[in-house]
Amino acid sequence: MSLSIDFDNSYARLPDRFYARLDPTPVQAPRLIRFNHDLAAELGITPGDADELAAVFAGNRLPEGAAPLAQAYAGHQFGGFSPQLGDGRATLLGEVLDRAGRRRDIHLKGSGPTPFSRMGDGRAWMGPVLREYVVSEAMHALGIPTSRALAAVATGEPVFREAGGLPGAILARVASSHIRVGTFQYFAARRDLDALRTLFEHTRARHFPDCATPQEVLEAAIERQAKLVAQWLSVGFIHGVMNTDNTALSGETIDYGPCAFMDTYHPVTVFSSIDAHGRYAYDNQARVIVWNMAQFATCLVPLNDDQDAAVEAYTRAVHAMPDRIEAHRRHLFGRKIGLAQATAEDAPLIDDLLQRMADNQCDFTNTFRALHRGDARDQFTDPTAFDAWESGWRARLAAEEDPQDRMARANPAFIPRNHRVEQMIEAAVAGDFAPFERLVTVLAHPHDDQPDADDLARPPAPSEIVERTFCGT
Ligand code: AMP
Ligand code: MG
Repeated sequence: MSLSIDFDNSYARLPDRFYARLDPTPVQAPRLIRFNHDLAAELGITPGDADELAAVFAGNRLPEGAAPLAQAYAGHQFGGFSPQLGDGRATLLGEVLDRAGRRRDIHLKGSGPTPFSRMGDGRAWMGPVLREYVVSEAMHALGIPTSRALAAVATGEPVFREAGGLPGAILARVASSHIRVGTFQYFAARRDLDALRTLFEHTRARHFPDCATPQEVLEAAIERQAKLVAQWLSVGFIHGVMNTDNTALSGETIDYGPCAFMDTYHPVTVFSSIDAHGRYAYDNQARVIVWNMAQFATCLVPLNDDQDAAVEAYTRAVHAMPDRIEAHRRHLFGRKIGLAQATAEDAPLIDDLLQRMADNQCDFTNTFRALHRGDARDQFTDPTAFDAWESGWRARLAAEEDPQDRMARANPAFIPRNHRVEQMIEAAVAGDFAPFERLVTVLAHPHDDQPDADDLARPPAPSEIVERTFCGT
């Protein structure tokens, strides 16, 4: 049976100025690296054979019903506003309604130049494509809202990011939508009120069907982002480029670039090579997302007749966001130490542990994972620092039912560790995809003990530590 996708393209029905219609640029020799059959089944896609999958997800063959386009958007990049960014190396093939009736975008990243490419070549090399495949699927398995990886295809063409070139690749990714804070900013900056209204209504119907007014949408969007960022913090994830164009209104994690999971816990950890001042450091993410949502709120003001009243109400909503993030963070970290419902009174217990972990160069993932096993003290350079915390914790745990089980479910054994991701990329560039396949397989079950994969749970040896991650643009 040949490949078929039942498209229903609502974004392509929006006015012309929302996008540029264009086909992906074909590549020389597409070869399928991996296809996510489970996700395809969820989307109701009939796969067809590997050559056909490679041709379609490289952009060489358009599936029937596709309406390819590059979306227009703007965005604050590291705090500076760019009125026009847009999909410079990506194509939205179209949308499907999945088995659960949810609308999902099918999108190619690395699919060639578009009118939004500026100086870029519109391509991606294999490293970031495989990183995004591994990390986004790992995030999904961790229960964190995210875009998904449907396919990775090698293009058979070199991409020039360093001398000699690197193998090119394309990622087919799936998201509830690619509507960003930056999409609203694009029309708000142009004072295109008609487009802003149209975008608002499209976004409301698609992501916030229970909301009626811009204020209700704002509050719901803030709540989703508050929870999302708290979830990132709870697994030690650092997005790396929390620009407003990378903040999706669906509340999903999108645009994996120089992202990374922390090994050793420290709140000001930064990996991204382009984040010189730590704007998007681990613990700053909770502040930056508030700033991003303030930009979203600003875009919604013109939709109101009484704009002064809107400014006042939206300001209150944005100012309430840090407390919402903190509430989610407390709940999630509470579960990590075995508490069903952590209260404000439990916050000092959580923060004291984190402080001691920072002081003792603890591995973030392995220390929490060791709590239910009872050998967490071994993770501390000075184990008595853990003992001093443990007595208060045990006293608090006495009031909990089944805390061991709760901790085992809240604390993954496996995260995509940077050094493993880098080693996987190096192997793939040399033609060996076994480490990639293994990472994807193991990370699909992050909370299970997998004795065969103990090496993937170990922190890096000093020589393996990855200090810097790169965008790959
Ligand atoms: P990102 O850092 O991936 O979120 O991208 C920021 C902006 O740069 C977006 O408008 C991208 O489409 C654009 N961009 C990134 N890499 C490339 C590339 N290789 N060619 C063209 N545009 C790119
Ligand atoms: Mg982006």
